[in-house]
Amino acid sequence: MKEENAEGHRRPKKGGDSREHWWALDAGDVMARLESSLGGLTPEEAVARLERFGPNRLPPPPRKGPIIRFLLHFHNLLIYVLLVSAVVTFLLGDWFDALVILGVTIINALIGFIQEGKAEKAVDAIRNILTQEATVLRGGKRQIVPAEDLVPGDVVLLISGDKVPADLRLLKTRDLRIEEAALTGESVTAEKRTDPVAPKAPLGDRYGMAYSGTLVVYGQATGIVTSTGETTELGKVNALLSGVQTLTTRLTEQINEFSQWLTVAILVLAVATLVFGLVVRDYSFGAIFLASVALAVAAIPEGLPAIITITLALGMQRMARRSAIIRRLPAVETLGSVTVICTDKTGTLTRNEMTVTTVITREGTYAVEGVGYEPRGDFNLDGRKIVPDEDPLLTDMARAALLCNEGVLRPAEEGGWETQGDPTDIALLTLAGKAGLDFNRTGREYPRLDVIPFESDHKFMATLNSVPKGAGVVYLKGAPERVLERCDRQAAAGSDLPLDIPFWREKIEEIARRGERTLALARLSFDERKELSFEDVQGGLTLLGFLGIIDPPREEASASVAQCRDAGIRVKMITGDHALTAAAIGERMGLGGPEPVTGEELSEAEEGDIRLLVQRSDIFARVSPEHKLRLVQALQSNGEVVAMTGDGVNDAPALKRADVGIAMGLKGTEAAKEAAEMVLADDNFATIAHAVEEGRAVYDNVKKALAFVLPTNGALAGIVITGVLAGEALPITALQILWINMVSAVTLGLALAFEPPESEVMRRPPRDPQEALLTPFMIWRIGFTSLIMVIGTFGLFLWDTIHGAPLEIARTTAVNTLIFFQIFYLLNARYMKASVLNLKGITGNRYVLGSIALILILQVLFTYVPIMQRLFGTAAIPAEEWLRLIAFTFSIFILVELEKLLFRIWERRRRMGEALRH
Ligand code: ADP
Ligand code: MG
Repeated sequence: MKEENAEGHRRPKKGGDSREHWWALDAGDVMARLESSLGGLTPEEAVARLERFGPNRLPPPPRKGPIIRFLLHFHNLLIYVLLVSAVVTFLLGDWFDALVILGVTIINALIGFIQEGKAEKAVDAIRNILTQEATVLRGGKRQIVPAEDLVPGDVVLLISGDKVPADLRLLKTRDLRIEEAALTGESVTAEKRTDPVAPKAPLGDRYGMAYSGTLVVYGQATGIVTSTGETTELGKVNALLSGVQTLTTRLTEQINEFSQWLTVAILVLAVATLVFGLVVRDYSFGAIFLASVALAVAAIPEGLPAIITITLALGMQRMARRSAIIRRLPAVETLGSVTVICTDKTGTLTRNEMTVTTVITREGTYAVEGVGYEPRGDFNLDGRKIVPDEDPLLTDMARAALLCNEGVLRPAEEGGWETQGDPTDIALLTLAGKAGLDFNRTGREYPRLDVIPFESDHKFMATLNSVPKGAGVVYLKGAPERVLERCDRQAAAGSDLPLDIPFWREKIEEIARRGERTLALARLSFDERKELSFEDVQGGLTLLGFLGIIDPPREEASASVAQCRDAGIRVKMITGDHALTAAAIGERMGLGGPEPVTGEELSEAEEGDIRLLVQRSDIFARVSPEHKLRLVQALQSNGEVVAMTGDGVNDAPALKRADVGIAMGLKGTEAAKEAAEMVLADDNFATIAHAVEEGRAVYDNVKKALAFVLPTNGALAGIVITGVLAGEALPITALQILWINMVSAVTLGLALAFEPPESEVMRRPPRDPQEALLTPFMIWRIGFTSLIMVIGTFGLFLWDTIHGAPLEIARTTAVNTLIFFQIFYLLNARYMKASVLNLKGITGNRYVLGSIALILILQVLFTYVPIMQRLFGTAAIPAEEWLRLIAFTFSIFILVELEKLLFRIWERRRRMGEALRH
């Protein structure tokens, strides 16, 4: 450190230079060139270098320029139809109409462009919430910093599950395996070591390097940053391209397909109308051509795809506000059809705030007092307070808890206690503190030589420390069964005794039945100082004792579980903990199932049996990550749509396989996040339930948008066709239809995307993912409302013409009639089947009210401003006309509410009938 401080002002010449062959240098050289040390840079130097090298960040991937993106909005069948008709209209000598058509197409493209930009921005903003962090040594101290702040020369610690935050030359490795697919496309993991290789070695053979963007799938390492940001290998290939969000999902594809199909059908209809008009009705070509164009424009729902995309993007935003970060847009809709949620217990259903409350040694059972992580509290043995110092066995337990530990617990500057790492570890530090151990002194007396880190797979961790007088000692802690397997003796007040297995088995159950997490501690004397391997801790250990750890359930979790049950979703708890612990917590959560299924049973079960097992129980205990994959597969083959949570690197395959993979935002590894569709910013189960609720709401809103938009198209088409068939002047001209489409697309059409979830969304069963978007009910509703609009608009038009109103007035009335039909129907459409006849129903969505206000203003302009009158052939209409059309159009509001009422009554009857039959 000293030497570094002295030279701190000198800048490394080659730092961050990616042309250097770092992999060919040995570690010492690399460190010297980067002017760093094993203790890392000083904090001041890190700041200075950040200034000089810039943040460790890749520029956003190149995007199509705004002009191209704008032009792409003309690549649309409807626009082509319009452009052709503009040309034909022009050739027919009607250049004025041609210009208006052209103008409208441009405005249409502009609207689409702006809307798409907004949706994209919303999606991008959410992606940026997920920032990567890195563990570094600075000034010899371990610190967690944003990966963006890394500079060349920083010493970075890697453990399995990390995404390598910058290009690193490895200084120390332990069984390090890295998956470099992001860079090389090779999904087989590479084993890493620290020795130099030939300067010419290809990227895949540079064993001494860890490259930015690759994933640590096993082991741990220390490395020094050689280059950051754009100068990394990842920056050079700009592999981030794959990270660009697309705005397509199954739903948008379905809608696009539907729109295309509809467009073609409508074009055929338009041509048929043209022929009919020419042959049967003897219209002039100019007139009937414009009528056919009007029909095409009227009927094609060109605004729909944009509305759907925005609905999805808004849903994503709402989920983010409730701590559920969507990484892939399709998950928004999949969430709505989830039938099973497989959730971790620890930290998701529980708070992950561990406290050791019981210590069991061969001498007795101690109750530990104190709350939180503050290392203050007494030990009671049979109700008597004891002095831990005078109990060598207890002290040995505490020492094991302190040394075999990866957590950090230190007094915070602002008072209280600062923690880092796994809460289980921190709880053990607290315990050691309560037992009177001095963390620093013990650490100095027993320096760590090696460690086998905890993994959910093997469920233990072990350390090798040297002892003051002697060679070394191994401390091992882990799941009691795993520890017991490795012990043949137990520690006692005097010397060690043979292991009393029945005694300990009973104790495990005693702890677990209370819903506490069980943990065993063991030790092994080591004669020679060396590295620690798995073989070293296979057997011959001495059991020190057990710990019982409480982890209080989250208050809101059991309510969320109940909510899911009402919503027809089964919640399955998956944990590495003991079956009895799991059962006890499961009971508190209201999770059913006769008995927990254990990982062992899952391992032994055949393909077919496992499908029964996953049906049978809702609690799975002592599960390893590879079981999770089998669980997902079995559930899926039972036809379930599965959401699965995970945090470790080994959970990644299960997360990928699940329909919605959910990674933990706080305790999850980068590898898990990368594999997941959604990240829980707060690790909380309740957040999953919220996300499902929002997912269902999004799907509802898409359907509501369809049910709202399509009748307008249907009505317009109906009006044009009726007009042509009747041989009447068209009640609404082609240009006026363009106007209606345009204004309602920017106002009313979007309002339903903001609709909050209905109160009953979590009280109905999940949607069948195969379900067609247009159910018979939807088709009925669209037909029914279209018909009302056609009859109303056409009727009023006839009434006007019969009473001798000029054509302009009759048409302006017709346009306003249709718009008012839309306004009233928009109020109905907020709820598909529920009544809106209450305060919340009318005023609950301010976007609905705002868009109504906006369209009213536009209609007044349309009707009264001279230039508009010239452009669209409108005329000022008298007040009595307004009264008549409002009275007329209000009918739709009443009729649809009536229809809903009849539907509800019919459905209740049917349900009652069904109930009676059972
Ligand atoms: P879960 O995440 O479902 O609680 P884990 O895989 O984290 O399951 O833990 C399984 C078991 O492994 C625990 O019951 C405990 O006995 C043991 N264990 C958990 N954390 C640690 C740790 N940091 N060190 C050693 N053993 C641990
Ligand atoms: Mg855990």
